[in-house]
Amino acid sequence: MEHFTIFGNPVEHSKSPQMHNAGFSHLNFDSIYDKTQLEDGTTIKQVFLDNHLQGANITVPHKEFAFSNADEVRGLASKIGAVNTYINENGKVIAYNTDAPGFMKAIEEFKEIKKAILLGAGGTAKAIAVAFSEAGIETTVINRSENRLDFFKELGCTTTTWDNFSCEKYDLVVNSTSAGLKDDNYPTPLPMLENILKNSKYAIDCIYGKITPFLQKAKEYNIPCKDGEDMLLYQGVLAFELFTNTKADKYLIEAMRKGLKQ
Ligand code: NDP
Repeated sequence: MEHFTIFGNPVEHSKSPQMHNAGFSHLNFDSIYDKTQLEDGTTIKQVFLDNHLQGANITVPHKEFAFSNADEVRGLASKIGAVNTYINENGKVIAYNTDAPGFMKAIEEFKEIKKAILLGAGGTAKAIAVAFSEAGIETTVINRSENRLDFFKELGCTTTTWDNFSCEKYDLVVNSTSAGLKDDNYPTPLPMLENILKNSKYAIDCIYGKITPFLQKAKEYNIPCKDGEDMLLYQGVLAFELFTNTKADKYLIEAMRKGLKQ
């Protein structure tokens, strides 16, 4: 039996085990996926190898530690500087970032995205901005504070704080802040958000499982919008493909979605 886990701190809330275990059952794959509370992120590679894990996901706050500990980093992860997936290849730890391509899969239903605005400049925003840059999407990043914007400047995004923002027209607005996760905050001051929404065709919130104040406003403006559930699902599906060396079909994806919603 192969063993998989998700590393995080905290990790109790994670829905990844139910999603991946549903995928394993669907394929009759003899594997188990559990949760590992990890206090010290610098030990992640050693813990992964000591536990004879075949693969793992990594969540907050260990994605950067996982990146710098890996034996090899593949794909977009090297530009993002953070990874959410480890694979054991004959004792070598190979790292990937499936958050970025998972997000792109989640917005496929929004056609013709050429210009986007990202609210927030944290780890999730970094993955999305790199994915946008690879897809040739012109990106503006707006953040409450200035100090996180350098990464995005270097990537070629237009960067701004709330103070010097000037609104343009956007195909997509993304809330990648944690505003609305555990509070009722908007991701920017309300008049600014209303102006952005009036000038945007589609909206997505990275937060899942609730109608945040951001999503509520997008609905009020009749903008096609969605929460972060598909983003979570597709990063999981892409990691699952790496874990099992299979290509997910629609039945597997639906099984994993069902697992997620359990
Ligand atoms: P980080 O802590 O790295 O970044 C948080 C960002 O939110 C920063 O830019 C911060 O701004 C901003 N922010 C926090 N509070 C407020 C506020 N009240 N008003 C305006 N801006 C605020 O977080 P992550 O990037 O890891 O996660 C961001 C969100 O994405 C979370 O809500 C998380 O749940 C969600 N997420 C969803 C996933 C999915 O699969 N659906 C996957 C990963 C994350 P500042 O720099 O000024 O502090």
